[in-house]
Amino acid sequence: MRTLVALDFDWTLIDEDSDQAVITLLPPNVHADLREKPYASMQWTDKMNHIYGELHRSGCTREQITTVFTALKLHSSMRTALQLAKQTGAADVVIISDSNTVAIQECLRAHQLDSVVSEVITNESTWTPEGRLGVRRYVSAETPHGCTRTALYKENPIPSCALNICKGRELRRLRAGYDRVVYLGDGRNDYCPGCELTSLDVYMPRRDRGLHAILSGPDGAAIQARTVYWTHADDVLEEFETIFAPLAANKSQAP
Ligand SMILES: [Mg+2]
Ligand SMILES: [Zn+2]
Repeated sequence: MRTLVALDFDWTLIDEDSDQAVITLLPPNVHADLREKPYASMQWTDKMNHIYGELHRSGCTREQITTVFTALKLHSSMRTALQLAKQTGAADVVIISDSNTVAIQECLRAHQLDSVVSEVITNESTWTPEGRLGVRRYVSAETPHGCTRTALYKENPIPSCALNICKGRELRRLRAGYDRVVYLGDGRNDYCPGCELTSLDVYMPRRDRGLHAILSGPDGAAIQARTVYWTHADDVLEEFETIFAPLAANKSQAP
């Protein structure tokens, strides 16, 4: 049985939000400006691109930003859980995130997870020779993903996916060739991929976050997968030990 482990990055793989961690580097006056027009209504990826420009203008170096990425809080039990899945030889681990490629790759390298994660689906980011990070939407405005799925959030129906990424569409593409998916997430945009899961899959929403709020309402009825809530990375490790232990045992008995 081949398993695809697909997980979100912010507040799932790591115990914080990578964009917010970068925003703390902004000088206070720029930080205040971002709450005003025209920035307040800017699409999030475009806003982060603007923020990286402001950081560059304020003298923030590539090293300083990289240090933020490598210092993102990743619990050792989360790392152990993903290593456990990978070591069975019957699972692949992919990240589907609304962060950016450089942030995620630096974080994975810092925690020796770059060889465990086989693919990262997120907004593309690149450094200019001058040390300015640029971020581009994963799905551009010119070629919209077309997802129309909504979810009730704080009593209002809202699009479940942001303009720049539909994680459900990505999961549909990625899951081909796998018998089962284990999906972990915490945010509103982790609802759409949850709706793509079948009764053979495992859905692992983080407790007390945006996704949990959606699932607690009427939209929770759309989920067919076995659902396992978690709070701490230790809970994820415990569940992964149950899911992957039979596969690990098979592997050790193989000739
Ligand atoms: Mg998240
Ligand atoms: Zn979607």
